[in-house]
Amino acid sequence: NVKIVLESRPGKEYPEKDCFQITYGKPPTESEVKVDQILVRVKFISIDASMRVWISGAKTYMDPVNPGDVMPASCIGEVVFSRSPDLNKGDLVLGLMKWQKYLILDRKGLMKVPKEYPQPEHFLGVLGTNGLTAYFGMFDIGKPQKGETVVISAAAGAVGQIAVQLAKSVGARVIGMAGSKDKCEFVKTLGADECINYKDDDIFKKLKEYCPKGIDVYFDNVGGEILDLCLLLVRDNCRIVMCGAISGYNSTKPYAIKNYQRLIIKKGLMQGFIVMDYAKRYKEAIAYLGNLISKNQLKHTEDVLYGLDSAPRGLRRLISGDNTGKVIIKCDYP
Ligand code: NDP
Repeated sequence: NVKIVLESRPGKEYPEKDCFQITYGKPPTESEVKVDQILVRVKFISIDASMRVWISGAKTYMDPVNPGDVMPASCIGEVVFSRSPDLNKGDLVLGLMKWQKYLILDRKGLMKVPKEYPQPEHFLGVLGTNGLTAYFGMFDIGKPQKGETVVISAAAGAVGQIAVQLAKSVGARVIGMAGSKDKCEFVKTLGADECINYKDDDIFKKLKEYCPKGIDVYFDNVGGEILDLCLLLVRDNCRIVMCGAISGYNSTKPYAIKNYQRLIIKKGLMQGFIVMDYAKRYKEAIAYLGNLISKNQLKHTEDVLYGLDSAPRGLRRLISGDNTGKVIIKCDYP
């Protein structure tokens, strides 16, 4: 059984230097599968920004991953053997698995992926965590209105690219931010009115130019200095969606926000959320996003790497910003 374990906590040199190790062992056998359990072979692995936080040892909504642990991940697995009445060999299931070829899992907590859906890996991205995060963050917290100005950071990423299109769909003016000229061009193909290359442009100058009336909604994927600059430009009754803070995930020194007082005079809302808390409404979001996809009204890009052993590279790719869109590992086994 192939497993990828955290060898040591990543240091300053991450993402240039890896911190995982591949180990090999015997796969579990059918006789070990208990009632209401299944044996799965992991087929698709979702790579998520939050994994960088899990391996840092910080306490979050998930237990931290410690050196020696197999890396957990949202995955789609193929049922190899089942002792669950509603799952058969060949069915696909989605849930929390690991960077590991074979696993025994409890049926509880797994979602059956519809067999008829042609690209099941979408349930890890646009119809999974990332699409749902964009949907609930934008519609439940950001609540953009026609004509309002919405700024979205990491706009070429898996969450960001869906958030851009959802904000545009209600008639908002959308300003994206991304880390290269090519990414900015891509963000504009999604419908964004403008896109700021935060690595080369004068961010504040561009924000003022592109948001002459100020910012109504800031969908924050990055935190840090970009959040601070957006705070200076918020309008009355603004909404700041605290989705993520990736600019801080790889640093040991937290960024101290200076401009949050602007929220007082602007009567603004700044709200964090965790997509899993919306589990009861996943069906609604999947139906909404699935409908847009079926009508070709929602673009989404996947950044695919092949082979279980490429999972650590996938995470480093995401943290260094080399990805455009959802990082997915397709595990093809010989
Ligand atoms: P993405 O596909 O968006 O990839 C991350 C992107 O972040 C990179 O491509 C890079 O793009 C950008 N980035 C990296 N470092 C920095 C930096 N220092 N400053 C600015 N941008 C940076 O990943 P995800 O879609 O998986 O995640 C996006 C965000 O959503 C993350 O913050 C994540 O934690 C959050 N999230 C929150 C959830 C929730 O429930 N609240 C659930 C899922 C995700 P670029 O080249 O443009 O820099």
